Amino acid sequence: MRLTDLNSGRDIGANSLLLEFGEHRMVVDCGMHPKHVGKPSLPRLGLVEGTVDSIVLTHCHLDHLGSLPLLVRGNPRSRVLTSAANTLFAQRLLRNSLAVMGRQREELGVADLPLYTASDIERVEAALSAVPLNNPRRVGRGEDEVELTFHRAGHVAGATGFSAVHRGVRTFVTGDVHFTPQRTVPAAEFPRTPADILIMECTRGATTTVPDASRAAEERRLLRGINRVIDRGGSVLIPAFAFGRMQELLVFLDEAAGRGELADCPIFCSGLGLDLCDYLAEASKRTRQLSFDRKVLDRLGIIALRKQYADPGRRPREAGIYLLSSGMLVEKTPAWRVAANILDHEESAVFFAGYCDPDSPGGQLIATPPGGEFEFKGLDHVAKVRAEVERFHLSGHADREELVAFAKDLSPRHVVLTHGDPPAREWMKVALAEALPKAKVHDPEPGRPLDLV
Ligand SMILES: [Zn+2]
Ligand SMILES: [Zn+2]
Repeated sequence: MRLTDLNSGRDIGANSLLLEFGEHRMVVDCGMHPKHVGKPSLPRLGLVEGTVDSIVLTHCHLDHLGSLPLLVRGNPRSRVLTSAANTLFAQRLLRNSLAVMGRQREELGVADLPLYTASDIERVEAALSAVPLNNPRRVGRGEDEVELTFHRAGHVAGATGFSAVHRGVRTFVTGDVHFTPQRTVPAAEFPRTPADILIMECTRGATTTVPDASRAAEERRLLRGINRVIDRGGSVLIPAFAFGRMQELLVFLDEAAGRGELADCPIFCSGLGLDLCDYLAEASKRTRQLSFDRKVLDRLGIIALRKQYADPGRRPREAGIYLLSSGMLVEKTPAWRVAANILDHEESAVFFAGYCDPDSPGGQLIATPPGGEFEFKGLDHVAKVRAEVERFHLSGHADREELVAFAKDLSPRHVVLTHGDPPAREWMKVALAEALPKAKVHDPEPGRPLDLV
């Protein structure tokens, strides 16, 4: 098997891998880099134009899905194999991405935006092919037949990893994985059978796993924090990805309210997250690969955030819980806008509940000391950070020790690292060399083919 990392850099970025099984060319994921805008946000699609036989989509986060319309446009005969749940989500998330690119074109004056059109998204929709979990599916012919089997990956609704067996060589691709159950998705169910090649994410490779920060303990700390802020008359902003994370947090709040443990206050959500609630509810009825019920919204009395914000620096019009996207407080998003009403006020708080890239506004806010300044570019406002800013470890990615243990169980000859920043890859290299002294650990150079068999 020959692997080429199509991502533009050794980071989380625009995930995309070319796997060549003999003559059969398969692309796994085709994301868009969240830190770049326009063409620099794309993977190296020029290396695969017109030559792809099959496409696999592991899940619908934009760092895996965002530029799929361009790959499908360039390879119109390839099917996109994915879980049944993903076939229900892909179009909705791509349409949102298209709308965001339209806004960026105006605001940033980037002429090559949007990178694709509504009809490209329709082409993706037509190319999607649902593959049942734990059931082999063959692609390619004769010598180059590949047997694919998809397995639940935890992480987010619809996420899968898969094995690919070609001429007796077994490759396992984790995609983004979480081995702990969440409220809307069960834990990953990966077989622990030996593999020759393991292609593994390593998002949390540089994150020390704190034993006390078990999920349940972190959830209790978050709930105590919310109640403390609401009881003193403040507002809590929880920035959250609209897809997956927001619904997880809604179920978390609903369970706490059901036990009588949540302070009574209005809860606001932003539009895309609420819209995606319908998609998750539909997918949980139709596929049983996840569980989310719209009744959560009624029980919590969720209020759709109307974008009539108070002036920057002033308190929100109504105190309450603001569960808004984006999770990394990206500029111009509802969460960023409401942060401009929260940060100056000592009774309020911003609670981060997921991964924040250090270069994102969320990451920058976390790094700002109390009393420091945080600039809202475009709002003509510099906040003095008086609100509580806190992080809660409720990641949707596996701990680094769990990844090493998984690699040990599969005992591969080759491990290929993906989906991690350089420090994360460094830690994994050292830990894997110790755990699997006979295996070769690869940190592939983007764009350069790596022969693994
Ligand atoms: Zn993901
Ligand atoms: Zn990812």
